[in-house]
Amino acid sequence: MKWNDITLKRVKRKARVSVFWKIFSIFIAFIAVILILLWVFQISLLNTFYRSIKINEIESALKDITENIESEQLESIILSVANDKQICVVICTQNGSKLYSINALPNCIIHHMSAYLLARAYTITHNHGGMYVERTMIDERRSELLFYSMGDPNQVESVIYSKIVSKENGENLLIMLNSSISPVVSTVQTLQIQLIWITVIMIVLAVIMALVLAKNLSLPITKINKSAKVLAQGQYDICFEEKGYREIAELANTLNYAAKELSKVESLQRELIANISHDLRTPLTMITGYAEIMRDIPNENTPENVQIIIDEAKRLTTLVNDVLDISKLQSGSLPFNGEVLNLTANIQDILIRYSKLTEYKIIFEAEQNVFVYGDALKLSQVVYNLINNALTYIGEDKMVTIRQILVAGDKSYPQRVRIEVIDTGDGIEQSKLNEIWERYYKVNKNHKRATVGTGLGLHIVKTILDMHQGATYGVKSQIGHGSTFWFELNVYSL
Ligand code: ADP
Repeated sequence: MKWNDITLKRVKRKARVSVFWKIFSIFIAFIAVILILLWVFQISLLNTFYRSIKINEIESALKDITENIESEQLESIILSVANDKQICVVICTQNGSKLYSINALPNCIIHHMSAYLLARAYTITHNHGGMYVERTMIDERRSELLFYSMGDPNQVESVIYSKIVSKENGENLLIMLNSSISPVVSTVQTLQIQLIWITVIMIVLAVIMALVLAKNLSLPITKINKSAKVLAQGQYDICFEEKGYREIAELANTLNYAAKELSKVESLQRELIANISHDLRTPLTMITGYAEIMRDIPNENTPENVQIIIDEAKRLTTLVNDVLDISKLQSGSLPFNGEVLNLTANIQDILIRYSKLTEYKIIFEAEQNVFVYGDALKLSQVVYNLINNALTYIGEDKMVTIRQILVAGDKSYPQRVRIEVIDTGDGIEQSKLNEIWERYYKVNKNHKRATVGTGLGLHIVKTILDMHQGATYGVKSQIGHGSTFWFELNVYSL
């Protein structure tokens, strides 16, 4: 069983809910909450809300009338209270004779009260400290104009506020307000019917919308998943549709990029295996061949033939080392050993090892010692790889120049050191300048000299320099005029 099969199985076993059902259920739950709230507020809490609003209205009306008891506008205030708020108003004297009596309700209680009852109401109010509130349930079945309360259709709750106010002339008056504080049943019934309709329409709409929404959201994910499975099977030319939501389009874009990179790596690796096996076979054949000749034919045991064996063995070593270096660098098993080092002396040390190559002229131009912070071993590898490349692609003049220059830096590191490795060889096409840093990349695959390398050298350079903070690198090249490979590091001290 393949690895991806195993992971797929594991995901399935956890029985995750699909995006479709998740969105669908969230949407339906949301609508359900809204409907519940509507029902609770419109039906169950309607009575409570209505009562508290009504009581507030009566209290503020009572306050208005009390404050304006001696005002000329008293009558208009009473009228507006009665008409706008459906509150009955009676203002009477201590002995029950009415001064004002405005009837706003069909089932008003105070309006029908006799002078005797009003005088009694005065006494009761007085006995309660000048303010008295009475709530009653009135069974008004007998009345033809009756409205019904919610709980019992035959009863409405009525409230009477009575208050004694004193006028400036010392006269005491009784203000009585009466209003019904139960919502009318017909309104509640209308609301209920409306709500039933709203609920049915909302449920139908919600189900349709949830289905459409969930489908729309999950479809592109399902599509991407399908394509990703194809990709996992090794079909790198698969195209992820960059349509739909931004996140999905971005994901598709990333996956397309990943697919492109994977296909590149795969073809490069295939090429590398072909190259390496070819590169390994050639020196091995040479070594075996020459060794056998030298063993069998005594005259062939010459220093030239031994040199060929040594050269071929060296080629093999380089090849194997490059492959090992890159895998070590990439697996992180070669940690960064940072220290302050003398870069100039480092390069000079390396050049000593090239001094035996008398057929080449290697020049190092440096004006002073420059100290940088870096990994000495790894930086030597960078210089080695650049010099080796310059020697491999060296021009007619057989000359390689290494130049150390100081350049301006930024605020934290005002000076930077630039190392240039210059050859006058064939040069590299402008279009290839970015690609040469990639793994296993060789510019001219058919070029005889190019088969010497593994296409890893510059990738090693790039990987190492990327480990150094503030390091930059690049190449300038012109076909027929040679190449200048360079890198820059922050100067620690001079
Ligand atoms: P290789 O081991 O094949 O040289 P590199 O990664 O070092 O691999 O280089 C990648 C490619 O870049 C080489 O195949 C070569 O074509 C090109 N290249 C590198 N250095 C030079 C140079 N100094 N002059 C011309 N071409 C170069």
